[in-house]
Amino acid sequence: MGRIAIVTGGTRGIGRAICETLQNDGFTVVANYGGNDEKARAFTQETGIPAYKWDVGDHEACIAGCEKVASEVGPVDVVVNNAGITRDGTLQKMSFDDWNEVMRINLGGCFNMAKACFPGMRERGWGRIVNIGSINGQAGQYGQVNYAAAKSGIHGFTKALAQEGARAGVTVNAIAPGYIDTDMVAAVPEPVLEKIVAKIPVGRLGKADEIARGVSFLCSEDGGFVTGSTMSINGGQHMY
Ligand code: NDP
Repeated sequence: MGRIAIVTGGTRGIGRAICETLQNDGFTVVANYGGNDEKARAFTQETGIPAYKWDVGDHEACIAGCEKVASEVGPVDVVVNNAGITRDGTLQKMSFDDWNEVMRINLGGCFNMAKACFPGMRERGWGRIVNIGSINGQAGQYGQVNYAAAKSGIHGFTKALAQEGARAGVTVNAIAPGYIDTDMVAAVPEPVLEKIVAKIPVGRLGKADEIARGVSFLCSEDGGFVTGSTMSINGGQHMY
């Protein structure tokens, strides 16, 4: 059995592509998801990858979920914090609940999963954590103060935790995707999406597989000298 990787929000979109790519790389992969049982069932049928349901924003549920995975599959060597949601709106219209929910799931989920899995990785002397941030956490985005703040927080969280893991063989990195063709982007109104695509230098949306290839490298042995970094995969939309 290969090293064990868990991908949060792994049953569809970018997460699913990451699961399949890591499986091809030889990892024993487990997916987590939030609530869409139908998608999760289809995913497991099609890929053979088990899917475990829990809310990554719920600290206790994360600890219990990772313990279940450890007892049923084995100790977790790789965590990909991919689960994420949007609750968009201008500050004026955004409720405190919309702010809180995005912070709780998108940023809190990274903390919860790290609390559950990072100590074991350190003890065993090897680990990989990859956090999926966003171009909108780097550059900001109108109507997304909650999402941009949570994703920006992920980039800081990554750099801080990388320093705690480095000596113990645990790398911690982030990927900041640009606009990728998934359900999340399908929710963006067509005229808005057209304007977004017009601003992407390569002239198209990204593909989930293109994010998964980046995760694959960061989780590989060859990626062992890369830690605390943010890999931007965005078609040239944001460069710095
Ligand atoms: P999708 O909306 O297609 O999928 C989201 C996944 O996250 C689903 O599997 C969903 O589970 C899961 N999820 C949502 N909430 C929770 C929760 N509370 N606990 C556990 N799992 C949860 O998203 P994408 O594939 O588009 O995005 C994946 C990641 O990439 C996100 O973090 C997103 O912010 C980021 N990203 C995406 C971009 C894009 O253009 N698509 C651009 C930049 C970043 P379920 O199916 O059960 O609902």
